[in-house]
Amino acid sequence: MFTSKETFKKRFLDKFERVYGKSFEDSTIQEQYATLGMLVREYASQDWIHTNERYRAESQKQVYYFSIEFLLGRLLGTNLMNLGIRDVCEAGLKELGISLSQIEEQEIDAGLGNGGLGRLAACFLDSLASMDYPGHGCGIRYKHGLFEQKIVNGYQVELPEQWLRNGNVWEVRKAGLAVEVKFGGHVEVSNSNGKMNFHHVNAETVSAVPHDMPVIGYENETVNTLRLWSAEPSPYRPDRDVMKYKQETEAISEFLYPDDTNVEGKILRLKQQYFLVSAGMQSILNSYLKTGQDIHDFHNHVAIHINDTHPVLAIPEFMRLLIDERNLSWEEAWHITTNTISYTNHTTLSEALEQWPISIFQNLLPRIFMVVEEINERFCMKLWKQYPNQWERIENMAIIAHDMVKMAHLAIVGSHSVNGVAQIHTDILKKREMKLFYEFYPEKFNNKTNGITHRRWLMKANPQLTDIINDRIGTEWIREPKQLEQLEKYACDPNFQDAVYEVKQVNKHHLAEKIRQHTGIVIDEQSIFDVQVKRLHAYKRQLLNILHIMHLYNRLSYEPNFTITPRTFIFGAKASPGYYYAKKIIKLINTLAEKVNNDPRTKDYLKVVFLENYSVSLAEEIIPATNVSEQISTASKEASGTGNMKFMMNGAITIGTMDGANVEIHELVGDDNMFTFGLSAQEVLAYQQRGGYNSFEYYHHDKRIHQVLEQLMNGFFSVTDSEFEHIYDSLLIQNDEYYVLRDFASYSDAQMKLSKMYENRSKWSQMSIMNIAKSGVFSSDRTIREYAENIWGVTSSAYVR
Ligand SMILES: *Cc1c(COP(=O)(O)O)cnc(C)c1O
Repeated sequence: MFTSKETFKKRFLDKFERVYGKSFEDSTIQEQYATLGMLVREYASQDWIHTNERYRAESQKQVYYFSIEFLLGRLLGTNLMNLGIRDVCEAGLKELGISLSQIEEQEIDAGLGNGGLGRLAACFLDSLASMDYPGHGCGIRYKHGLFEQKIVNGYQVELPEQWLRNGNVWEVRKAGLAVEVKFGGHVEVSNSNGKMNFHHVNAETVSAVPHDMPVIGYENETVNTLRLWSAEPSPYRPDRDVMKYKQETEAISEFLYPDDTNVEGKILRLKQQYFLVSAGMQSILNSYLKTGQDIHDFHNHVAIHINDTHPVLAIPEFMRLLIDERNLSWEEAWHITTNTISYTNHTTLSEALEQWPISIFQNLLPRIFMVVEEINERFCMKLWKQYPNQWERIENMAIIAHDMVKMAHLAIVGSHSVNGVAQIHTDILKKREMKLFYEFYPEKFNNKTNGITHRRWLMKANPQLTDIINDRIGTEWIREPKQLEQLEKYACDPNFQDAVYEVKQVNKHHLAEKIRQHTGIVIDEQSIFDVQVKRLHAYKRQLLNILHIMHLYNRLSYEPNFTITPRTFIFGAKASPGYYYAKKIIKLINTLAEKVNNDPRTKDYLKVVFLENYSVSLAEEIIPATNVSEQISTASKEASGTGNMKFMMNGAITIGTMDGANVEIHELVGDDNMFTFGLSAQEVLAYQQRGGYNSFEYYHHDKRIHQVLEQLMNGFFSVTDSEFEHIYDSLLIQNDEYYVLRDFASYSDAQMKLSKMYENRSKWSQMSIMNIAKSGVFSSDRTIREYAENIWGVTSSAYVR
C-alpha cells in the first residue's frame, strides 16, 4: 500500500473521495489529516490482526497496564515513524502540495492525563509494543482531557478540552464487547448447601463500551491495544427519570480530574475508578475464559499492573468476579488475585495517599466494600499472629481504620509486587512511608526507575540531533539505547561539538519563532534557554526559580558593573483549578515577565516567558531547544520525575536537587556534567522530624532574600498590595514548608557557576554530549524490560518467534 509515493498518492486520493464524496481540490487541511489518519490505521490493521492471532496461537502470557491516565499526545507522527512509512507519505503529500508537518499539527493532543504519571503510561505502551511484549493499556475514554489553559491578564483561565471535536481516527468502537458495571443498591446474602451467595440488588447499571486504539511498535509488525472505556446508558436502565440517568451515566467518563497530587473527595472520582477496573477486569476475564484455559491458572497467563492506587479496586473486583460469578473459594480467589496483580507507588506526599470515607465507599460499592472488609479482617488476623498485642502497629497497617478505606494498604496487601519509581524513592518507601509494610512483606518491595521512550522524545522530537548521532555511531542505539554511550568518545571532538551546538541553535530558533508568534516577546537566540516546564506545585518549587530571577534582575538594575550571560527563562505549567497557591505562582511568573521584559536596563540580559497550555506537543518543541533543565524540587518530594530524563536526552544540562531520578542522572554524568545544589533528602527529613528550620533567619540574614521578599509586597510590581501576600506568608508565616529560602543561596551559587560555564562553548557542548551519551539508561525500554522480567514474568515475542 505504501511501497512508493505514487501508490500512496493514489490511495490517499481514493480514500479522500470515498470518505468525503467531493473532489480533492475542495478538501480542508482537517480533512486531509483525517484521511491520512484513516489510511494509516487501516495500514496498521493487518499487523493488529496478526499480532492478536499470534498471541492467541502462542498462548503467551499477557500483561494489562491499568491507569486512570494516558497522556498520549499526538499519534500520527509516531505511528508513521514506527510503521516506517513517514518518508514515502511525506514525499507523496509533497507532490499534492501538502506539507506533512502541517497536517500533523491538525491533530489535537490526546491529553488524557495530568503529567508524569499519565505520560509514563503512554511511554510504557510504546516500549511494550516496540519490544514485542504482549502488553496492553486499559483506561477511560474521557470526553474531555485535561483542561486547556489560557493566560488572561497573567491569570490562568481553564477551558474545557475538546480532543474528540473532530472525531478520533485512531479508535475503533466495539459496542459488541460492552460490559455492565453496577453501582449502589445493596447486597442480599443467602445460604445454599453451606455456601454463601451474594446478590447485588437494586443496583444501577451502566454500560461500559470499549474503544480500542492500536499501539504500534517500532518497525516490528507488533500492534498492541489500548482499550479505553466509555460510560453509556445501559439497556437495563433503571426505572427513573431517563434524562437524569443518561446524564449521570455519561458524567462518569466526561472529565479527567485535573489534579495529580491531592485526591479530590468526590464520589464521581470513586465511580470512575470502579468503572475502569470493573469493565477492564470483566473483559480480561471474558477473553481468558474464551481460550478455554483453567481459571486456576489465570495468573500464569495474565499479569495486571496498577499505575498508582487509582485502579486498586481491581483487587476486590477480581475477588468478587471469582467468588460470586465463578464460584471459587476465598482462598483460591485470593491466590489467583494476589499472584496476578502488581502495584506502582508514585508518591510519598501524605496528602496524595488516597483514602475514602466508608460512608461513601459502602453506599456506592456495597459488595466491593464487603470484600474489602474481609480482606482487612484476614490481614489483621495475620498481623495479630505475627505481632501479638501490638495494637498500634496493626491499627497503622489496617486497610480500614478510623472510618476510612486506605487504598495504598489495599494495594500492598492484595498484590505480589510493590515498586517505587526511582532508587531514592524506593528507599524512602522502605525506610519511612511504608516501613511497617516493608518489615512484614520485604520480598514484595522493589525499585523500577522510570523511563521515557527515546522514539518520541529523541527521534521524533529532535530528528536533527538523531541524524548527527546516526552519522557518528550508526543506528544500533535505536534498538539498544544504552549504545548512546558510544557518543562519549566524541565528547571532545570539536566537529561533533559544533554539530551538537548547531542543532541546538536551530531548535532554539524554531522555539524563539514560536514564542514571538504566541507572546510577542522577542528573545535572544544566543541567550541561555533555561526551562522549567512541569505541573505547578509547591514542592516542585517554581518559586525558587522566580525568586532567583528577581534577584538577578535586582543586581542587573542596581549594580552598574554586574553583567551575566544573557538568559531566557521559560516556564510552562498548569495549576489544578482549585489550587489557589499554584495559581498565584502563575500570576507571579507573568507579572515578573511583564516587568523584566520591558525594562531597558535589563532587557538585553534577561527575558522571562510563560508558554500557556503546557502539553506533550508543546514539550516536544521546547525540550530540544533547551540548554538548562530546571529540576529543583525539595529533596525527597519528587518520586522520580521524567521531564529531567527528556531534557538530558536532548543535551540540556540539569541544575537540580538530589531528588528522584536526578540522583541517578548525577551518578551517571558526575559533578562535571550537572549542577547540583540544596538540602539532601536526609537533611529535609531530619528537619521534618526534629524541627530546627526557621525561615525568618534566612529572611533576616540574607539581604538578597530580604529584598526579593519585600518586593512581593511593596508595590515593586504594579499589582494590588495583597496579590502575592499568600506567597509571602507561605515563606514566612508558615515557615516555608518546602525550604525555598533554605536552598536559595546554594541555588544562586549553582546558577552563577552554570552561567560562567556557558561562556565556554566547547566545554558546554562537551557536557551536553556527555548527557546525551549517558541518557540511554532512561529509555523506558530498560524500565519495561525490568518490569517484564522481574514483576510480570512475560517474555518478548521477539524471542518466541
Ligand atoms: C514528561 C511530562 C511531564 C512530567 O514532567 P516532570 O518534570 O517529571 O514533572 C508532565 N507533563 C508533560 C506534558 C510531560 O510531557
